[in-house]
Amino acid sequence: MSVNDVKDVIMIDDDECQVTEDDEIAAINYELQQIESEMQKLRDRKKILTERKEKLRDDILLKKSFSLSKKDWNNANFDWSARLQKTLKDVFKIENLRELQLPTMNAIMSKEDVILIMPTGGGKSLCYQLPAVISKGITIVVSPLVSLMEDQLHGLNRLNVKATMLCAKTDKEIVKMTMDALINKNSNLKLIYVTPEYMAKSKRFMSKVQKAFELGNLERFAIDEVHCCSQWGHDFRPDYQFLTTLKSLFPGVPILGLTATAPAKIIVDVQKMLDISGCLVLRASFNRPNLYYEVRRKPADKKLCLEMIEGLLKNRFSGKSGIIYTTTIKDAEQLTTNLREKGVKIGCYHAMLEPEYRSEVYSKWISGKYQAVVATIAFGLGIDKPDVRFVIHHCVSKSMENFYQESGRAGRDGRKAVCLVLYRLADVFKLSTMVFQDRVGLQNLYKVLSYCLNQTSCRRSLIATHFEESWNESDCVQMCDHCRKPEVKKEVDVTQYCRQLYQIMTKAVQNDTRLTALKLVDAWYAKGASSLRVSDVPVPKFTRETAEAIIGHLLVNGYLQEDFHFSSYSTISYLKRGPKSGLALSNDHKILFNYELH
Ligand code: ADP
Ligand code: MG
Ligand code: ZN
Repeated sequence: MSVNDVKDVIMIDDDECQVTEDDEIAAINYELQQIESEMQKLRDRKKILTERKEKLRDDILLKKSFSLSKKDWNNANFDWSARLQKTLKDVFKIENLRELQLPTMNAIMSKEDVILIMPTGGGKSLCYQLPAVISKGITIVVSPLVSLMEDQLHGLNRLNVKATMLCAKTDKEIVKMTMDALINKNSNLKLIYVTPEYMAKSKRFMSKVQKAFELGNLERFAIDEVHCCSQWGHDFRPDYQFLTTLKSLFPGVPILGLTATAPAKIIVDVQKMLDISGCLVLRASFNRPNLYYEVRRKPADKKLCLEMIEGLLKNRFSGKSGIIYTTTIKDAEQLTTNLREKGVKIGCYHAMLEPEYRSEVYSKWISGKYQAVVATIAFGLGIDKPDVRFVIHHCVSKSMENFYQESGRAGRDGRKAVCLVLYRLADVFKLSTMVFQDRVGLQNLYKVLSYCLNQTSCRRSLIATHFEESWNESDCVQMCDHCRKPEVKKEVDVTQYCRQLYQIMTKAVQNDTRLTALKLVDAWYAKGASSLRVSDVPVPKFTRETAEAIIGHLLVNGYLQEDFHFSSYSTISYLKRGPKSGLALSNDHKILFNYELH
């Protein structure tokens, strides 16, 4: 019925009964709401179709790349094969190459542009270090982290490979030596490590690189953490923008991009930025068969939570070595103190501690004096302990990439290890206020949230899907909580709950109050401020945890969204209706959730 129809009805009825303006407004409102909901549906559909179109275009480019990878790069019949094997043993003291190392080296030695996607710790650096040693000219390695470059430099110097590094802090002597080497055809300098900032800022350096190129002295570029080029990545860096000029400045000089970030969208974007679209893309598997993945509900009560961790350390992980990750320095210190009071031998590690103290903690852990280290994510770079048997996340990670990397420090020796996440919705809101200003911060966080909320799927299949790897049900062999104890859960319709939450939110708006998730749940359970409660909304028959899970599900799927406000001391996350609220209110729409409501 349109507004005109309404008018007609009003005209006819005018004689008998008085239809007021209020009635007409109500009718119009009803229709407007319907239009809004239709529009929302169309917008959602448009979004889905646009994304699909982009995905198909990206797939075409990636297919081109993969067809290049069909060529047999994994053989020992290249001109350099013998030299490569000899240098591997004599210089690097390594017996065997790992998955994809040989194909990468052969391809870049053949002057192909390559992107290598390999999990952290897989051995990406060797893929440019070894070719650098057996090539005549200079390899320029761009890397964003000075401390990691220093580590590599020390390593190479020990092996008697000549390498140097340029960053804002480099002293003049070394800068001069490096600049001279670039324009000296007989120099034995093999690798120059450089930060992207330095490259973008130093005209002197770039003019020497230009000379090196003209002299035929510039062998190739290796770009570490190459995903930083892409705005879609989890840590886009403006200085990487400068690298987009390399291909046109130095035509014919091969580029090797290295990353542990896999999504096709990012890889395609990186290829476009570096002007190497359709280059060879080599992708190592992210599956770690010896890691057991598990998610547990984290008790809201601090004391219960502490007892749970104590129990784990004293029983299940007794005599085993591990890491417990927390989000904040305060949490790390608190948890360390509490666990020490319980008699657990444990160290604490975060960025605010003195370097000497940190290395002491590290060595006590390595030597087994500490069973575990309670750490912020500052603990990670350069960890080289093969027998880490458990990694506990005391708070969820910021992204699946972070989670994979942090949990992946377990079981480097190939033996079984456990990756356990303690999940609680409140922790997600603690993180969201820290990441919401990043372009894709919330999107990344919500991926972790849905990993934790999932009650049925194989954890490994969720991880594989995230890293865009194909996956078979049988690949897990009971190495995750859900595959060990499979439970069939029916999809439940949670639309009514969503609408009830909207009712509570509407009332709050009328009262000029904002609702945090905690207040929202309180009001739902008829607790907290009475002005926020809505009498027609029944108190849920399920637990608060289930209520939180429903809220998490609505958030991940766009029926709710976070609304951030700054107070004098902190940022607070409130909840409001999400972009899909129109859909949630339309009659024929159902919000399904694969979860047991109890
Ligand atoms: P990534 O950059 O992929 O995170 P790295 O290049 O830092 O990984 O390598 C991780 C570790 O693996 C280093 O200690 C390195 O020496 C070692 N490594 C690399 N390749 C091999 C190999 N083929 N055999 C044994 N160790 C290797
Ligand atoms: Mg690396
Ligand atoms: Zn599984």
